[in-house]
Amino acid sequence: MNEQTLSRRLERVAAHVPQGARLADIGSDHGYLPVALMLRGSIEAAVAGEVAQTPYASALRNVRKNGLEDRIAIRLADGLEAIEPQDRISAISLCGMGGETMCEILERGKHRLDGEQRLILQPNGGEPELRLWLMRNGYRICSEELLRENRFDYEIIVAEPGGAVTYTAEQLYFGPVLLQEKCEAFVFKWRRMLRQKQQTLANFERARDAVPEEKTADFNRQVAWITQVLA
Ligand code: SAM
Repeated sequence: MNEQTLSRRLERVAAHVPQGARLADIGSDHGYLPVALMLRGSIEAAVAGEVAQTPYASALRNVRKNGLEDRIAIRLADGLEAIEPQDRISAISLCGMGGETMCEILERGKHRLDGEQRLILQPNGGEPELRLWLMRNGYRICSEELLRENRFDYEIIVAEPGGAVTYTAEQLYFGPVLLQEKCEAFVFKWRRMLRQKQQTLANFERARDAVPEEKTADFNRQVAWITQVLA
C-alpha cells in the first residue's frame, strides 16, 4: 500500500468521501488516504492529524514528496484538536483504530464538530459502542460496508448529523444498514462468529472455575441473535 495504491479497505473508505470535500483524516499515519484523494482530484483540501511523532513525520514526508504542502496540512495533534474552524472541514475520517478509541476521540473533541460534517469510520472492533455513540449524539448511519482483507473483517460506518434516530440493540450490534442488506461478507462473518461463540460457550461449560452468569447470558444472547439473523 502507498499513496498511489490504497488497500482495498482504504479504497472503500475513500469511496465514501464526497467529491470536493474538505477532509480531516484523524490518525492518518502515512497520510495515504488524503494524499491519494488529492492526487485524484477528489478533494479540495485536507488536514491529516497524527498524535505520534513517527507517523506524523511519515505523513509530512509523503505530502512533501507529492508537492501537496499547500493543499494538505499535517498536524501533530490529539484527535479532533487537529481541526480548526477556518479549515471548514466537511468530512472526517477515522480509520484503523479501535471503536472505543474513536468514541473517546469523538467525545473529547465534540466541540470541534460543527453539526454538518459527515463521519467516515472504519473501526477495528468496538463497532456496537461506536454506533451507540453516534445514536446518542444525533448521528444517523447512512451507509455501512463490510469487507474482508488479509483474513480480517472490516466494517465501514458512514454517519451524518441530523434527526434523532433510535437503533435497537440488534441494530447496534450488527449495524442497521448491514443488517438490512445482509451482503455475502456479512453472512460469512456472522457464520464464523457463531461458530466461535458456540465454541466459547462450550468452553465455559467445561471450565473448572465458574464463569460469571452474566457473561454466559451475554454470550447466549449473542448466539440467539446471530442464529436468528442467519436463519
Ligand atoms: N488511518 C490509517 C489507516 O487506516 O490505515 C492508519 C491507521 S493506524 C493503525 C492508527 C493511527 O492512529 C496511528 O498512526 C496512531 O498514532 C493514530 N492515533 C491513535 N490515537 C490518536 C489520536 N488520539 N489522535 C490522532 N491520532 C491517533
